Amino acid sequence: METTLILLKPDTVERGLIGEVISRLEQKGLKINGLKMMQLDDAIVTEHYDFLADKPFFPSIKEYMMRTPVVALAVSGQNAIATVRMLTGATNPQEALPGSIRWDFGLTIDGNIIHASDSAETAQTELKRFFKGENIFDYSRGFDGIL
Ligand code: ATP
Ligand code: MG
Repeated sequence: METTLILLKPDTVERGLIGEVISRLEQKGLKINGLKMMQLDDAIVTEHYDFLADKPFFPSIKEYMMRTPVVALAVSGQNAIATVRMLTGATNPQEALPGSIRWDFGLTIDGNIIHASDSAETAQTELKRFFKGENIFDYSRGFDGIL
């Protein structure tokens, strides 16, 4: 069983799509173990996207991620990390496959709806970053999913 970190980005909150996106995760059999709304600050966004710090679009990513609160989720299931990345789709919504969250709801690369951890190592770091070990719950849904 894996746990991954998801952020529902500011455009998702602004456009009233929180429920729609969470439904996609639940429908796939993933379990929501943690869920909280957070206002991100410069320090946490800089840490989260530090590998993009030298890109010309870095200032606009920071502005985007801080303009409205985000919803952070800890989500588990078998192969949860890869499964969520597949549900999410390509970084640019215009290149994502139909049926993916970014194709179905995203408009442009700077409004791509969702962040999802891309490896087991990243997931571990990102879960600590956004949940700090608190507010993650385990419970039974009566099945472990069929992923
Ligand atoms: P995320 O980490 O947000 O889940 P990702 O893993 O698909 O997205 P990354 O390469 O990690 O893609 O890029 C992180 C974020 O930086 C993207 O989600 C997007 O918001 C922004 N980004 C990446 N490339 C570009 C670009 N060429 N122009 C504008 N923004 C970009
Ligand atoms: Mg990424």
